[in-house]
Amino acid sequence: MKRIAVFPGSFDPITRGHENIVRRGASMFDEVIVAIGVNTTKQSMFSLEVRKKWLVDTFADLPHVRIETFDGLTVEFCKKNEATYLLRGLRNGGDFEYERTIAHMNKALWPELETILVFTDPEYASVHSTVIREIIKNKGDVSQFVPTKVNIYE
Ligand code: ADP
Repeated sequence: MKRIAVFPGSFDPITRGHENIVRRGASMFDEVIVAIGVNTTKQSMFSLEVRKKWLVDTFADLPHVRIETFDGLTVEFCKKNEATYLLRGLRNGGDFEYERTIAHMNKALWPELETILVFTDPEYASVHSTVIREIIKNKGDVSQFVPTKVNIYE
């Protein structure tokens, strides 16, 4: 059976931290689905089309990385795609508590789903989309925090 993992997030915008986890995940699984969650209550800085394009461009060299969008429960998206692994990145202790809660809730909803937590490489441990958005709002240079294919001001 193919080992398929889903890496969910809002990717507003994708960061080098996300890229790091996806690239490492790609060496562990037969397929990685990067899934942009469409959150109707959360206003995003970048449109879905732009966020998707940046992901497609960033992972164009990895044929077994697929970019999708979804709404609703992550577990339902995983089931529909026969993905029994949920890939998540871990930056610090704060992430850990949050990820543990989500992992246990997801396990209760679908016991076959295994959450795989990957420690971010240390150089990306402080990279956070929220802070990147703040820098962008103030017209700062975020190029060192986002993948090379991402041109924020294009
Ligand atoms: P977004 O910033 O896209 O909203 P989320 O907070 O929803 O991202 O997180 C999506 C996944 O990416 C989570 O597993 C999160 O831990 C992981 N992640 C976010 N930033 C980093 C980073 N700098 N290094 C590693 N993983 C990260």
